[in-house]
Amino acid sequence: MHETNSTRGRQGRLYDLIPKEKRAILIGTYKSAQNKAQCEEQLAELESLGHTYGLETALKLAVPLREIDSSTYIGKGKVEEIRLLMEEQQLDLAIFDEEISPQQQRNLEKALKKPVIDRTELIVGVFAQRAQSREARIQVELAASRYQLPRLTRLWTHLSRQRTGGGGGKGGGGFLKGEGEKQIEIDRRILRKRIDQLQAELKEVKKHRETQRRARIRTGIPTFAIIGYTNVGKSTLLKALTDADVLIEDKLFATLDTTTRRYTLPNRQEVLLIDTVGFIRKLPHPLVAAFKSTLEEAVQADILLHLIDVSSPQAVNQAATTLDVLKELKADKRPLITVLNKADQCTQRLMIEKMRVTYPKTVEISALKSQGLDQLLDLMIREISLLRKTVTLRIPQSHYALVSELMREGKVNSVEYEENDVLLEVEIPQHLEKKVALFEVSGKT
Ligand code: GDP
Ligand code: MG
Repeated sequence: MHETNSTRGRQGRLYDLIPKEKRAILIGTYKSAQNKAQCEEQLAELESLGHTYGLETALKLAVPLREIDSSTYIGKGKVEEIRLLMEEQQLDLAIFDEEISPQQQRNLEKALKKPVIDRTELIVGVFAQRAQSREARIQVELAASRYQLPRLTRLWTHLSRQRTGGGGGKGGGGFLKGEGEKQIEIDRRILRKRIDQLQAELKEVKKHRETQRRARIRTGIPTFAIIGYTNVGKSTLLKALTDADVLIEDKLFATLDTTTRRYTLPNRQEVLLIDTVGFIRKLPHPLVAAFKSTLEEAVQADILLHLIDVSSPQAVNQAATTLDVLKELKADKRPLITVLNKADQCTQRLMIEKMRVTYPKTVEISALKSQGLDQLLDLMIREISLLRKTVTLRIPQSHYALVSELMREGKVNSVEYEENDVLLEVEIPQHLEKKVALFEVSGKT
């Protein structure tokens, strides 16, 4: 009991990195003029992340930058400009869309005399706010701790603020030198120990989940994972189909934990639908690492439903990001249906047509208005019938027609002839399963 309480206490401290309900300036950079529009769109996404967290965006700044400055990322002159802007408009916080190094972050905080965070930290903060299950909480705290470890010398972490007695203000921040360094060493050790502890806890939770997953596989019910960029309508689709009580919000990362629901297709086939956490451009590494197993498990479904929000001007990039993440998770070869969602709000017919050409199996729907769901369900039924299963068969020569059918429709991994029988290891489509059941060699030799 005592252990639980102290754990929660420390979680609170680590998560509380970003001051809430503050006015922020968002800073993005671009290399050449043709990248400016993209930079601005990415700043808009950063703004909605900030909004999800509870921050107010007062100003967005797209900075042309040919070369990254090693000490302040954007260079001295620009920093001074931003300092003046922040002073003038009484802004509390600067958020960089790029990943900035611990050293740059420290230098920027010193110069601006305000907290400076980057995209990674903001996303970690959003995840921290939204983590519900024990596993998600552990994963987020692990990500936050890993992010914090090289940054303990910052001026505005909650840890250091506590140390300077809630000050962190005018006096230039920091702490008495010798004492401060000693304190940082202690903090570092505490944090490392905590990271080890979290990793161990995570292992435990995973073991438990793996058992559940195995049980699910054994049932043989086909699973569909609903995947896609954040905010494309994944949870809305699950709700439209199953009336599941899931959180739907026009915010990024409303869903952190995967929700699974049973669903019966019109042909009375039972399936499992899994709602997943959304992907995002440049998903921060500490989070990818911490959430990897959750993500991996989600995309191990039999069939993926890739949702794209076709009402977004960023639809093409978002779809590409999702497919990249799938590749990273080694799930890009899974059967996949592309679901063009929010068709009710799409103003770019041409883009939809292009996507229909780019992706082989597409369907246009509106999850919100329950339009196009019948076509989606038809596609799902068809995909299930194409699913392959590996079986070992002993077929008597009198049934040779079956062997040639299997050679035609399945994928034969090995053939052996034994007296009057043919021994086959073959991947078969679902519709042949019943036909070969009689010849299946049970158990392994
Ligand atoms: P998720 O992050 O992918 O799970 O997205 P949500 O299901 O939480 O939905 C994000 C937002 O998009 C919500 O405001 C939904 O109401 C909205 N939305 C979802 N599907 C549709 C749709 O088909 N049409 C329109 N216009 N909005 C949708
Ligand atoms: Mg969701």
